[in-house]
Parts: sequence; C-alpha cells; structure tokens
Amino acid sequence: MTLAMPSPAETLFETLKAAFPETILQGPEDLAGRAPGEHPDNFAGGVMALPASTEEAAALIRFARENRAPVVAQGGRTGLVGGGISRAGELILSTARLNRIEAIHAEERTVTVGAGVALEALQQALHPLGLTTGIDLASRGTATIGGMVSTNAGGILAFRNGVMRHQVLGLEAVLPDGSVFSDLTRVIKVSAGPDLKHLIIGGEGAFGFVTRVVLKLETRNPERATALIGLPSAGHALRLTGALQARPALQLEGAELMWAHYFHDSAKNHGFDTGWLAPDTTAVLLTEVSGESTEQAMEALEAVLADLWEEAGITSGLVAQSLTQARKFWQLREEAGFIYREHPDAPSFDVSLPPGSLDRYVADFRARLKAANPVWDAYVYGHMADGNLHISITHVGHASETDKLAIEAAVYDGVRDLGGSFSAEHGIGTEKRHAWLTYTDPVKRNLAQAVKRALDPDGLFNRGKVPFA
Ligand SMILES: Cc1cc2nc3c(=O)[nH]c(=O)nc-3n(C[C@H](O)[C@H](O)[C@H](O)COP(=O)(O)OP(=O)(O)OC[C@H]3O[C@@H](n4cnc5c(N)ncnc54)[C@H](O)[C@@H]3O)c2cc1C
Repeated sequence: MTLAMPSPAETLFETLKAAFPETILQGPEDLAGRAPGEHPDNFAGGVMALPASTEEAAALIRFARENRAPVVAQGGRTGLVGGGISRAGELILSTARLNRIEAIHAEERTVTVGAGVALEALQQALHPLGLTTGIDLASRGTATIGGMVSTNAGGILAFRNGVMRHQVLGLEAVLPDGSVFSDLTRVIKVSAGPDLKHLIIGGEGAFGFVTRVVLKLETRNPERATALIGLPSAGHALRLTGALQARPALQLEGAELMWAHYFHDSAKNHGFDTGWLAPDTTAVLLTEVSGESTEQAMEALEAVLADLWEEAGITSGLVAQSLTQARKFWQLREEAGFIYREHPDAPSFDVSLPPGSLDRYVADFRARLKAANPVWDAYVYGHMADGNLHISITHVGHASETDKLAIEAAVYDGVRDLGGSFSAEHGIGTEKRHAWLTYTDPVKRNLAQAVKRALDPDGLFNRGKVPFA
C-alpha cells in the first residue's frame, strides 16, 4: 500500500487547525464545492481562515509569517483582474466575519464598518436615515467595503463624489509583520504628516489587510427620473451632462454612456425594443437625476431635454415611465454578461481618459485595433462623466501572446499622453501585470516596489501581484 504525501494545502490546513482551534477555518474539501466568485482560481489555494476580529486576523498573519505562508486577502471576490487568486500553500484570509456595521454617526454623516460589510447591506442600513454611501457599483450585493478600499473602487457616482479614496476618513489594517495600523479618524481634515492610509487604499492587499473603515456619507435622493438619450458623440453627452448638472432643481445621479454597438447587442440580449432610437446615433446616454419628487424630477428632466434637444444634438430619447422601466434601462448598462457568453475569452479593459478626449480616443483606438487585425471588434461603454471606459475585444478567439500584446497596445497607446490611466477602477491584480510594468512611470514603479520590500520583505501579502516586488 502506498501512502500519498499530504499536499501543501492539507499540511497548512492541519497546522492551522492545531494552532487556531477556535478560529473558523475551511480546507480543500470545504472550498471544493463553493462558487469561487469572478475568478476561477480564487479558491485554488484551498485553505481559508475567517477571522472575526482584528486581533484574530493579526494572530493569523503572524502565524503565516512564522510559517512563511503567503496571505491572500479576499472580500466579496467580485474583483475583475485576478487580484484575489490563491495558489497551493497560500492562506486565504476572508473578511466574511468582519461584517459588523459598528457605528452610524448620522449627524456627522460618517459610518464605521468592518471590512467584510457588503456595499448593499450598508446602503440598506443607511437608507432609513436618509443617508447613503457616496459610491455605488453594480456589484453592490457582494462587493465588500474592504475590497472596495483595496481596489480604490469607482463606480457610478465617482464623477460627483470621487472614488473610494475620497470616501475613506479612517482605516485600520494589519500590516505584513502582524502589527495593527490604526488610523480610525472620523474627520475630513487631517494635516498631520504623510497620510499613510492612502498606501493601503488602492494597494490591492499588498501593503495591509484592511479590517475596519470609516466612511463619509451622502444624502440619499430616492426621487428619481431616468432616461436613455441617443447622441452623435461622447462630446455631446458631456455637454448635456454639464447642462443637467447646472440645473439647480436637479441633482445628477448617473451618466453612463453605451456606444451603439454595445447598446444594440445589450438590448437584443435583454429583450429591449430599440425602435425608438434614431439610426444615426453614435452613443446612448443613460442618465438619472433626482429631485424633490419623482414627478418633479421627471418634469424637470423632460424640460431640460426639450430645451436642449437641438443644441445638444439629441437624436432620440426615452424617459422611463415607471421604476420597472428605469431598472430595465440600468440592466442594459450594468448586465454585460452577454459579452462573455458569446465571446468567453474576450480580453477586457478598463481605462480612463479626460472626458473631453473620449471621442478622439475611441476613434484612434478603433483605428489601431482594425490595423492590428481587421476581424477584431470592440464593445465600448462606461462611466462617461468621469471618462471611465470599459472595453471588451471580440472575435479574437483564443488569443496568442502576440495577439494579446497587439490588443493591449491598441487599447493603451496614447492613454497616458491624453492624460488618462490604463487602469481606471478595477486595479492590476494578476491580469494587468504586463500593462503595469509597461505603462507605469518607472520612478513611481520603483518607489512602490521599494515600499513593498520595506513593509513586506518576505513578499507574503498577495505574492506575485502588484507591485511585483
Ligand atoms: C458586475 C460587476 C460590476 C462591477 N462594477 C464595478 C464598478 O462600477 N466600479 C468598480 O470600481 N469596480 C466594479 N467591479 C469590480 C469589483 O466589484 C470591485 O473591484 C470591488 O471593489 C471588489 O470588492 P470585493 O470585496 O469583491 O474584493 P475582492 O474581489 O475579494 O478583492 C479584490 C482585491 O482586493 C483585495 N482585498 C479584498 N479585501 C481586502 C482587505 N480587507 N484588505 C486588503 N486587501 C483586500 C484582494 O486581495 C484583491 O486584490 C464590478 C464587478 C462586477 C462583477
């Protein structure tokens, strides 16, 4: 009889169980049957610990350090760039039990939450108080505050409230040496030397395991009107959005743009009639405004559209007549899964440009793509008001390394010169490694790697991921 050697995951699991009898742990068998989230390799490491407090997380991290086991932080696992993937011998540290909304300071408009609180759960707790988070994403049901901090998430409201970095007032995180970085201030103004929490925000788990967060809050404006507006260009959409923002009776709550190819295919997949849309439309703006009441918001929106119809170059428009119809409009923009059902390997990108450069960028990018391979095509859509485009390349099939580099060049060349970023809101993870090494200023890259080596000399936190030190 031959005895199989235990795998690195089984060895780590058994050692952990002996060292942490009170901690909730999951091993290879527990994780085998669970849905891994957005990346199939999220659970590949096979061992997960679910600390219920900062102290427990710190003890686990010290254990990992002593046993030289790399640590992978995971929140809702909705990340789109493979930042949460794990490998054999690595310990997944989940924030699922750090899920307490600890204190809502309604008058101060701040909230202190555990890193594992899901965005939508927080929004639901705030809504009865007339408050909400200043940030919103389509993955709200599952994405956690800790994950959003770590990726510096953006979303629908970034044009107005900024990104996650601008929402975080205070932060607590366990550093790779097991010490606790505690900076849970509840104030906007802090001018007390370098604000090091910003290293952890957007650090994708490389510099610290986020355990608690203090967020700013915004007024909730539930009385909404929503419209789809056909336009000749992104420039027209930007001007129309500016005009809506200038109307005192309205508050702009969303300005998402779908280029015609994306819009028509999304509509087809969602069974949505596009007969109302003029054929000469380049892009469709999904806009939402709030007002004192739904009726007032709808009347004011219709009045603005009528006033600006010719000046803004509107080709056609549809104002939602019910909440159900408004939800359907949002579905066209937010549920883009049809792309990957038809093109499972479609390379996907998330770039940002100054909004005034969107038309030029999209035209140049399409020309570069067609020059590289006339068969390739692209869906383009995104958060127009802050210049964030999501791009999915179709008809590529299984891309060779040469194809991947050609596509990357078509998408990224010129982005930096126009004043944009090759990664807007999804992060770097494992999938944007080549882009980070190619398109990040070398001085900035070296600095990030030097800081990583100083804080995490053994490279334990999110090994093999940004900043690739
Ligand atoms: C349908 C859909 C729509 C989306 N829309 C948007 C959008 O509009 N805007 C946007 O910005 N993103 C969007 N995303 C991407 C994703 O939701 C965000 O990146 C989100 O911030 C990830 O949160 P999470 O809790 O799922 O993190 P995870 O996926 O679990 O982790 C993401 C990264 O953060 C690290 N991490 C997680 N928790 C911690 C922690 N506590 N401490 C340290 N590191 C940690 C992980 O190691 C990983 O590198 C979307 C995703 C989907 C599926």
